[in-house]
Amino acid sequence: MKKIIAIYPGTFDPVTNGHLDIIERACELFEKIIVTIAVNPGKAPLFTEEERKDLILKVTGHLKNVEVDSFKGLLVKYAESKNAGVIIRGLRAISDFDYEFQLALTNKKLNAGINTVFMMPNEKYSYLNSSLVRELASYDANIKEFIPEYVLEKLKEKFRK
Ligand code: ADP
Repeated sequence: MKKIIAIYPGTFDPVTNGHLDIIERACELFEKIIVTIAVNPGKAPLFTEEERKDLILKVTGHLKNVEVDSFKGLLVKYAESKNAGVIIRGLRAISDFDYEFQLALTNKKLNAGINTVFMMPNEKYSYLNSSLVRELASYDANIKEFIPEYVLEKLKEKFRK
């Protein structure tokens, strides 16, 4: 098999068990996975860039071939700068498809040598996303099943403040 570096871009506000499930699967397939936070100046995330990095680093500590990074600007340029051959995206449901399809085709147009690989999480995470986690956490709902313990602690701290 070829040794391929893959990047897994996203907002990760915060990282959930759905993201982690994708990362763990991807680790089996690629030489290195760079989980990279897309820093979007137009968005006001709950967790800062540094906090999100820390969360991902902590919850992927058991995985040897994971790196954590962040980027601004064009994803394809970032991928090129990392010598990545693959962009990983998660597909949960058909509702993800339109947006992901457009994104993948656009990126392919910009650099045909970089392939988007879609991965499905375990079905128990197929309805899960970070905004649901943030909303439930704000109401102090029980979300143990959705996020790693460390993320839960940090979310509780955020909403205690
Ligand atoms: P973005 O703003 O780029 O969608 P997210 O952090 O929400 O950032 O998601 C990053 C990637 O992870 C996307 O490809 C998204 O489809 C995928 N993803 C998010 N939640 C899950 C989940 N529960 N299971 C599988 N993939 C997911």
